[in-house]
Amino acid sequence: MTDSSPPPPLEPLTEDWRCALAVVAHPDDMEFGAAAAVARWTRQGKHVVYCMVTSGEAGIDGMHPDECRKVREAEQLASAKIVGVDTVDFLGLPDGILEYGVGLRAAIAASVRAHRPEIVITGNFRDTWGGRNLNQADHIAVGKATLDAVRDAGNRWVFPEQLDGDVEPWGGVREVWAASSPESRHGVDTTDTFDLGVASLAAHGAYIDGLGWEDFDPEEFLESMARPTGSRMGVRFAAPFEVFSMGWGE
Ligand SMILES: [Zn+2]
Repeated sequence: MTDSSPPPPLEPLTEDWRCALAVVAHPDDMEFGAAAAVARWTRQGKHVVYCMVTSGEAGIDGMHPDECRKVREAEQLASAKIVGVDTVDFLGLPDGILEYGVGLRAAIAASVRAHRPEIVITGNFRDTWGGRNLNQADHIAVGKATLDAVRDAGNRWVFPEQLDGDVEPWGGVREVWAASSPESRHGVDTTDTFDLGVASLAAHGAYIDGLGWEDFDPEEFLESMARPTGSRMGVRFAAPFEVFSMGWGE
């Protein structure tokens, strides 16, 4: 058997929810594929909140982190607004050197307890993007910690110091969705909101300039991913997600 068989069709993600929290390592992580799906959901009247674990302050070679943090947070706020997201939390953990562990789980669990989502979105945390394109350490740490933090958030005896005043445990997350995972078996039709996804990536202007990728075109780039994904759902454009059910017996 060679690898020439077409990838399997993607199941549509459930849309019977009202509130989602997206937890990613860096400003721009949602915009490299998932933002058009967010735009579709906010257009349906759903509430989506972004949580940036770092401010991406180590992301621009020619800019000192103190300056870079401000630039990237501002770009992320503008980018989120384009897809209907008004709340962006910045956890302020150090860009580039995140470590999977209890500290990271605690920071994410606090965000889950604060926002009480039914769905938690994160980025791909597999070792690669498929093929031989290696994933990045912060992405892997955040994705793994997010899965754990969703369970931690529901247990009043884990990180109990967070439960003062109005904060209660939250065990209501039904599924965690990892965007752009090479193991994706689900997808979202983003045909109608594809342009908003492009605009939200273009909003990261300083970051894109800093990458130094010659002639990088956000539209072309996103289209090159969304079109083959769309064909797995019988639509023009789509975004892929790996689904992790947080219940038992599924
Ligand atoms: Zn990233």
